[in-house]
Amino acid sequence: MTDGVFDVAVVGAGPGGYVAAIRARQLGLSTVLVEKDRIGGRCLNYACIPAKAVLRSADVLDEVRKAATFGVALPEGSPAVDFATVGKRRDRVIKTLTGGVGGMLKRHEVTVVEGSASLAPASGQDAVDLVVQTAEGPRAVRAAHVVLATGSVALPVLGLNFGGRVVDTAGAWLAGAVPHSLAVIGAGASGVEVASAFGRLGSAVTLIEALPQILPAEEPAIAELVSKELAKQNVRVLAGAQITAAAAGDAGVAIDVSGERVQTDGLCIAAGRAPDLAGIGAEHYGIAVDERGLVEVDGFQRTSHPRIFAIGDIVRGPALAHKASEEAVVAIESIAGHPDVEPLEIDNIPRATFCSPQVAAVGLTEDQARATGATLAVGEFPLAAAGAATVYGDRLGFVKIIGDAATGEILGAHAVGPRAADLIAELAVAKSGQVGYKDLARIVHAHPTLSEAVLEAARAADGWVIHA
Ligand SMILES: Cc1cc2nc3c(=O)[nH]c(=O)nc-3n(C[C@H](O)[C@H](O)[C@H](O)COP(=O)(O)OP(=O)(O)OC[C@H]3O[C@@H](n4cnc5c(N)ncnc54)[C@H](O)[C@@H]3O)c2cc1C
Repeated sequence: MTDGVFDVAVVGAGPGGYVAAIRARQLGLSTVLVEKDRIGGRCLNYACIPAKAVLRSADVLDEVRKAATFGVALPEGSPAVDFATVGKRRDRVIKTLTGGVGGMLKRHEVTVVEGSASLAPASGQDAVDLVVQTAEGPRAVRAAHVVLATGSVALPVLGLNFGGRVVDTAGAWLAGAVPHSLAVIGAGASGVEVASAFGRLGSAVTLIEALPQILPAEEPAIAELVSKELAKQNVRVLAGAQITAAAAGDAGVAIDVSGERVQTDGLCIAAGRAPDLAGIGAEHYGIAVDERGLVEVDGFQRTSHPRIFAIGDIVRGPALAHKASEEAVVAIESIAGHPDVEPLEIDNIPRATFCSPQVAAVGLTEDQARATGATLAVGEFPLAAAGAATVYGDRLGFVKIIGDAATGEILGAHAVGPRAADLIAELAVAKSGQVGYKDLARIVHAHPTLSEAVLEAARAADGWVIHA
């Protein structure tokens, strides 16, 4: 730090902000990280991590129910869910991971300030001024560069407010009990995860989606397969549904949807989020935002002000934790003038939904790829034909690769089934590294693993699948 001016001030300690702070310290930059709530941000405390911890309990329940098939007898009766213990484990997982982040910040000697930061009118050209409202009062912070990583907040719909029986996804995942019945509005990744977890843990769930397909960003066949599986998990799926009225009161929630009234104990709204920029003071530095309220950035995450960068849920692209973290690396390396820095390619960012069965993808769907005018080579391989899926007793799902027949390039890849979120990593590497489907079809994969389904899908795209 020179004359009380940090090299970098990062606002927000989610997967964007804490990674920015650590990368900045690795590159020798003096760094202050300001957080108004909890280290780890919403991802670790309220969203990704609590969600996956509760979903894991639902997955374990599924496994235990299948135990007899594997020759493992349970002492008596059917397995029961002790949700208090589910919640305790969820909280332990959050504590372990956020504690780990806190430890990393300490080891890297990041200065952490607890409080709410806003940009203050500039007192000079060579630095950016911030005011942090801390428990001890306002504190001025100056930095040569600022990285905004303030994330996003849930939006209510239909004139409802969050509170009582109406919760956002954080309210669902941090709940202390499983509601007897639950309506979920919005069947994107978050809504489908809530439905798949709480349905399996005992709620009667109604999942309501306005678009004709749940998981609207995914392949129609994958959405259909998930929809069928959700039906076996206590979830009634209403897709293409029109909500005409919704009200919540002491007695419960009533939703008029497509000509019927759905009555439930609780409602989770998973229908949209907005960037958390209220009171940030963007106007003091003329930071441009687009029509959706997202901060405009270039490929190096630079805003319209040369000293201010923005990453994560407050900028364009998919709202995903790993995207926020990689943008953090790009922003800091740009500030440091690192020779290897390169803009992220949005099309190469994998996405995953941790419902049962898992869904994951990278790049284009077949319809989107066709719309580019390319001649496609499409290969699909069912997990049932992969030895590992039979060995593990989980044969539902498939891997699909969409290639450009002229160039061999992978345009999109999709997986549904066990460990799909892990399987997509290889396809993301192949797509990003320009390993075409014909090359992938000749790379040796360990046996017996689910990854052999990726190999065979690549061969299918090239016209010579072996295990068919
Ligand atoms: C239910 C749910 C499940 C999800 N699951 C996944 C998943 O499995 N995988 C995945 O990749 N993504 C998932 N996401 C998306 C993921 O949570 C976000 O993309 C990610 O959290 C974005 O990271 P971020 O660093 O931009 O912001 P956040 O994680 O939102 O962190 C921003 C931080 O900034 C702080 N802050 C805001 N304003 C200020 C201020 N003025 N001063 C100081 N601090 C401030 C906030 O308190 C917060 O801690 C999920 C989202 C939801 C809602």
